[in-house]
Amino acid sequence: AHPVYAGMGLTIFEYMSGLCRDGSRVNLGQGFPDDFGPAELRDAAARALSERSSQYPPMAGVPELREGVAAFYGRTQGLPLAAENVIVTSGATEALTAAILALVSAGDEVLLFAPSYDLYAPMVRRAGGVPVFVPLRPPHWRYLREEIEARITPRTRALILNDPLNPTGSVASEAELAMLAEICLSRDLVAICDEVWEAVRFDGKVHRSLLAFPGMESRTVKIGSAGKLFGLTGWKIGWMVAAPALAAVLGRAHQFLTFTTMPATQYAVAEGLAVADLMAARLAGWAATRDHLNGLLAEAGFAALPGPATWFTCIDLAASGIALDDATFSERAVREALVATIPISAFLEQGERTAIVRLCHCKDMVTLSEGVSRLEEFR
Ligand code: PMP
Ligand code: GLN
Repeated sequence: AHPVYAGMGLTIFEYMSGLCRDGSRVNLGQGFPDDFGPAELRDAAARALSERSSQYPPMAGVPELREGVAAFYGRTQGLPLAAENVIVTSGATEALTAAILALVSAGDEVLLFAPSYDLYAPMVRRAGGVPVFVPLRPPHWRYLREEIEARITPRTRALILNDPLNPTGSVASEAELAMLAEICLSRDLVAICDEVWEAVRFDGKVHRSLLAFPGMESRTVKIGSAGKLFGLTGWKIGWMVAAPALAAVLGRAHQFLTFTTMPATQYAVAEGLAVADLMAARLAGWAATRDHLNGLLAEAGFAALPGPATWFTCIDLAASGIALDDATFSERAVREALVATIPISAFLEQGERTAIVRLCHCKDMVTLSEGVSRLEEFR
């Protein structure tokens, strides 16, 4: 197991990818495509690097990208936004940290839905807040009003919603979103919405943000990432979208975390956001890798859970006839089958175990075949 320091263990993603870096293992763990990313955007960044300044850009991001993000959400999600709503960050990771540091004070309770992305609870605690977990249950991971309301107290300040949800690939329904918005309004909560997977959905539906619900404009932080829109995870271009007054507050935290983000990649992402075909081509590629992985898993007798979004497919070990918990399976698979996977318990409180393991599908078809055949032999 990995070492723990000051309540924060090494993330499972780095632990697994670290074991894979010498090429000895198949990495179906950490979510990243195994291609280089779209050539159009890499060329645009190279052009910006040689033709434009590499000095500090404005703290809130280059105007082209702030305007580009606003226009992108206007076009794709019908959100009436302008540049002043957008603060560019070094990935969604920084956006989440900035939002938590800006909005959570000592003693504030923050509702998290479990499973939840691994940075939320440690960063809420570091901000002096108290994470309060609302369980979601397989196979559909529904948001239940009673479960949420039972955990709200006078100290509840915020909720963090990750929709579509990593690791499950599930998506909140319109009725669930309306219920969550209603709770935020009636209980005076701020919504920190991690929507990095908004464009990686295979059900053909348009993403809906809590930001789009009446009354939520002033209390929602919508977080996105070019890493997921374009499959450029190493670039670390993300953003926070909020009403101008709230965006100003978020900017105060951002200024002391990174202050600014590399300008060349900002210009390139701004160019990419204007080209609808680029994202559509990416999504079509990922639909193919997803179908390929799901087909291989079915053939090999692994029971996959439903999930219409993200780069991930979850398998149910018990339903696949494997009598191991998720952490034991993933640890043995990476050591014995030489395949990295992610146990869902990495998204739960320490010590909780499940029988569900996450596999990343946005890989070369040969890599997927090799990974599943090793897992099949190992099981
Ligand atoms: N939130 C979620 C739910 C994620 O899955 C990820 C990355 N996979 C992030 C945040 C971090 O995004 P970024 O790489 O842009 O920092
Ligand atoms: N979000 C990615 C995943 O779920 C990992 C990002 C990271 O390593 N922090 O695989």
